[in-house]
Amino acid sequence: MSLPIVHYCDPILRRKGDKITVFDAFLRQLSADMIATMHEANGIGLAAQQIGRALQVCVVDLRKVEIDFTGELDGAKPPLDLFMPMTIVNPDLSVVPGTEEYLYEEGCLSFPNIRGDVARPDAIVAKYKDENGVPHLLRCDGLFARCIQHESDHLNGILFIDRMEKKVRQSIEPQIRELAKATKSRDSSSTRPA
Ligand SMILES: [Zn+2]
Repeated sequence: MSLPIVHYCDPILRRKGDKITVFDAFLRQLSADMIATMHEANGIGLAAQQIGRALQVCVVDLRKVEIDFTGELDGAKPPLDLFMPMTIVNPDLSVVPGTEEYLYEEGCLSFPNIRGDVARPDAIVAKYKDENGVPHLLRCDGLFARCIQHESDHLNGILFIDRMEKKVRQSIEPQIRELAKATKSRDSSSTRPA
């Protein structure tokens, strides 16, 4: 079931997610609903905060991306179709030593029609669990690594606008303000589901 996506500056987007300790039917349903929501919105990633829950869960699907990246999952290089869409629970990221940062224009489903350059390291290693509690080790670079970093930031209450250079952030400030205003007026006219 697809869920409503929370927009900036709903306060839930600033909440650090609680760690998942129980891998049960609730989590698997949440994962399925988040994947449906991401697909319906044509996104490549979605974090729990974006559907109104402060939990360490995000989903990623890069099968439709036509940009080069590499990914090594648990020491193998399986085709994307075998492990995407993927659910990432309690991720622990580290940057591959010596990796350079590069700028790339990012968007976010919580910021409709707003894009801006963000600098991030090119290659990372992510330890995480899937929706069944199975631990995984993922090494990736390019857009794969960027997407995981963007989603992992969400799980810690960090947004892509926080990582923009001042002049980039300033250039989109009017759009951000408009969005914040629209989010606020929507909140006061209706009650958001918990
Ligand atoms: Zn986002």
